[in-house]
Amino acid sequence: MDPNRLKEFGLLPVWRVRPGALSGHPADQSVAASPVPPSGELIAELPDQSPIPAENLQTGDRAGGIARADWQQLRQMVSSCTACPLSQARTQSVFGVGDELADWLFIGEGPGAREDELGEPFVGQAGILLDNMLQAISLRRGENVYIANIVKCRPPENRNPQDAEAEQCRPYLLRQIALIQPRLIVALGKVAAQNLLATDDSIASLRGRLHTFSEIPLIVTYHPAYLLRSLADKAKAWEDLCFARATMQHLLLDQGGNLD
Ligand code: URA
Repeated sequence: MDPNRLKEFGLLPVWRVRPGALSGHPADQSVAASPVPPSGELIAELPDQSPIPAENLQTGDRAGGIARADWQQLRQMVSSCTACPLSQARTQSVFGVGDELADWLFIGEGPGAREDELGEPFVGQAGILLDNMLQAISLRRGENVYIANIVKCRPPENRNPQDAEAEQCRPYLLRQIALIQPRLIVALGKVAAQNLLATDDSIASLRGRLHTFSEIPLIVTYHPAYLLRSLADKAKAWEDLCFARATMQHLLLDQGGNLD
């Protein structure tokens, strides 16, 4: 791991990947709030990774067409979508980016100004931090990683997406998930976590636990934009990333996958 990246992420000198955390052994006791459980416990919690039938991911009639779309059709549907008022002010929709067969799926809330301009998620300051977070656990945007958002169009003034907007956009995200079949979803921030888990619970209460979304393991961490403002919580985000990485190691071992 590149120490300069950790420094940018604000993690040095305190936080390092501990061998125990990454190999699934009980968390090092010096990381007091580390959420990685003993390996047996974690494996017992992990659901099967059988393919998700598309019909399980539909949410209604309009969703039916979306749920049968291939990648190209889905892109076209998203780029021409007018299902909610967010479409009226967008420069362009922001579909998602990355490896379409990725093990890792990171989900944020919605495009900001820069994303609206460039058509790619997480390309502003928060995106730089997200890339550093990925690199801290040996991941790279586009390589076994897919990045998407709860809504595909920029909410005005960077406000949170409204429930109705998220609801209209949900079939697109569901179809992306069905096509990708990720092994693990990481929800970035409160909006993503609450939408995916259909809860009003606080992010503090949601992080540090293994959830599932349509039987896919899901881990909650802070949104990179929040971490840019709240340096103290970067250490907690690092715990979440270690938890996510340990979980992925378990998933790969469990399914005889390749750990590289
Ligand atoms: N914040 C998000 O949640 N998503 C983006 O794509 C950019 C910033």
